[in-house]
Amino acid sequence: MPKPPIIPYARQNIESDDIEAVVEQLHSLWITQGPKINEFEESICELVGAKYATAVSSCTAAIHISCLALGLSKGDRLWTVPNTFVASSNAALYCGAEVDFVDIDPDTYCMSMDRLEEKLVKAKEVNLLPKIVVAVHFAGHSCNMKRLKDLSDQYGFFVIEDAAHAMGGTYLDFPVGSSHFSDITVFSFHPVKILTTGEGGMAVTNRLDISERLQRLRTHGIVRDEACLEEGDWYYEMRELGYHYRMTDIQAALGCSQVKRLKPFIDRRRELVKQYHEKLQDLPLKLPQEQGGVCSAWHLYVVQNLSEKVTRKELFDFMRSNNVVVNVHYIPVYWQPVYQKLGFERGLCPVAEAYYENAISIPMFYELSNDEQDRVVQLLKQVLL
Ligand SMILES: *Cc1c(COP(=O)(O)O)cnc(C)c1O
Repeated sequence: MPKPPIIPYARQNIESDDIEAVVEQLHSLWITQGPKINEFEESICELVGAKYATAVSSCTAAIHISCLALGLSKGDRLWTVPNTFVASSNAALYCGAEVDFVDIDPDTYCMSMDRLEEKLVKAKEVNLLPKIVVAVHFAGHSCNMKRLKDLSDQYGFFVIEDAAHAMGGTYLDFPVGSSHFSDITVFSFHPVKILTTGEGGMAVTNRLDISERLQRLRTHGIVRDEACLEEGDWYYEMRELGYHYRMTDIQAALGCSQVKRLKPFIDRRRELVKQYHEKLQDLPLKLPQEQGGVCSAWHLYVVQNLSEKVTRKELFDFMRSNNVVVNVHYIPVYWQPVYQKLGFERGLCPVAEAYYENAISIPMFYELSNDEQDRVVQLLKQVLL
């Protein structure tokens, strides 16, 4: 029998409006960073309710320059969770800083504020408090930002929200990205995420000084201001060592077009979640939940395998062999060889490790049809019941 068509775990949605926007941009004078970048930045500010935005080439770049803008360097510490993509912690290594990991909450799979507080108490005693805590809104579900903000005030660290999964989500009626409880929020526009620009990222903040620093760092650390103009119109100054992390206007044109569909994107994801919740409730799976006060963007739909009959690997292989391209998010970051070489040992974050052993991300994206979703459900029933 021929195999049924492939259903990925995530995929972009590109409509004719997006294509027209990109083609129009290609006909314009600007194909690298130009006026479309400003337009895209402004539309994101409006959407998330933050004052300033800096578009960059990826979310990884956004995290890197956010760390630099907050002054992270050698001798400093950045803490994040192991249940994330390697980019969240790699930024610290780029800056020559040290990384450490805080275990996750067993229900939200986001940073556990109890574990964070315990770790802060101990770190304070030995004078090794972190400079930055990166909070990852896993699968689109916001962390407990209120408690994180209280801890950051008490212990004096900066907060970066890694909202790569969470564009379109809310927390206590604040859109994720408002940065009401943090210093900077970063987003990814990789095609598997909520909105796409092909590749791309954004750092948003309410602080002008941070925003100016982010803008400078994305383009070599170069400034053209009044002080420069006295020399002549050609003159610019490189005031610090920056990077080339610019987004192009071609990408920003796609972004501006995508932003207009954020609401239908989120609405459809929520509808699919409701259907999964109903259809999977009698299977030996732990289903994802939303905490009170949180409206998840549902980038991922992660279930944990509780079956005695099949292992996670068997479940994964069965789905893939039937052309349902499930995935696993995430291998604990400190299990990676680069982190093992830094001295991290298995067992550091038991909740994240136990979660990882059973986790599997099943298809969740705007274009997933009800029929395709039913095929996923049928296959799960077939293997689990
Ligand atoms: C995708 C992702 C990133 C990196 O995004 P890029 O735009 O690919 O650099 C960072 N953090 C998390 C949690 C992600 O899922």
